[in-house]
Amino acid sequence: MSGIDDTLSLAGAQAGGGPAVHSDVAYTLVSQEAISRRVAELAREIAVCYQGREITILAVLTGSLVFLADLMRYLSMPLQVGVVSVSSYRSGATRPLDVRFTIPLTDDLTGRDVLILDDILDSGQTLTALCALLDEQAAASVRTCVLLRKDRPDLPQRMSVDFVGFDMPDEFVVGYGLDYDNRYRNLPDICVLKCHAARSAGRPGEHA
Ligand code: 5GP
Ligand code: MG
Repeated sequence: MSGIDDTLSLAGAQAGGGPAVHSDVAYTLVSQEAISRRVAELAREIAVCYQGREITILAVLTGSLVFLADLMRYLSMPLQVGVVSVSSYRSGATRPLDVRFTIPLTDDLTGRDVLILDDILDSGQTLTALCALLDEQAAASVRTCVLLRKDRPDLPQRMSVDFVGFDMPDEFVVGYGLDYDNRYRNLPDICVLKCHAARSAGRPGEHA
């Protein structure tokens, strides 16, 4: 038993179909409405960049699952989808420890325009490792897209990313596919949990 409350507490007019707010959530950092608007904009930026060429989206499971599902439905150009699973957390940790590829890259990416999709850029070691792996393939191009990019001024050499949904403070977030100990992925907003908010100096700016 992890001590995390599994139940969704019903907030406000939930009886009328409103969103449920999990009782473990301290506050929402990015609302589902803001995510939806920005994902649609990101799709337009990606479409302009590739100008109708067929791309291969390579999604990093499991955190980018929801982002992938939403983004790909805003993209009208031809595309293929592949997945890799890269794990850089041990259960319950909030800082990456090592990078492990738990599903190997099997698709032949020769000549493909590859767009790597991940939920969040923190230290950058996951995407750096994946880009290095792709260097061994003969892809026509490799670009990167993350929904969230954490502010990490302590890492001035961190890799750059081609498409970014939101810049955010250095908080540990869950929801919209992101987990803590494999929980909370189903929350529609991107949130900070009470157990992590306690560590923060103050409440950061919110994307409404
Ligand atoms: P990086 O390798 O850039 O340090 O970390 C990238 C991966 O760590 C992301 O794909 C994500 O799975 C995980 N990660 C980084 N920050 C967070 C966070 O705030 N919340 C959650 N749930 N996962 C994170
Ligand atoms: Mg991840």
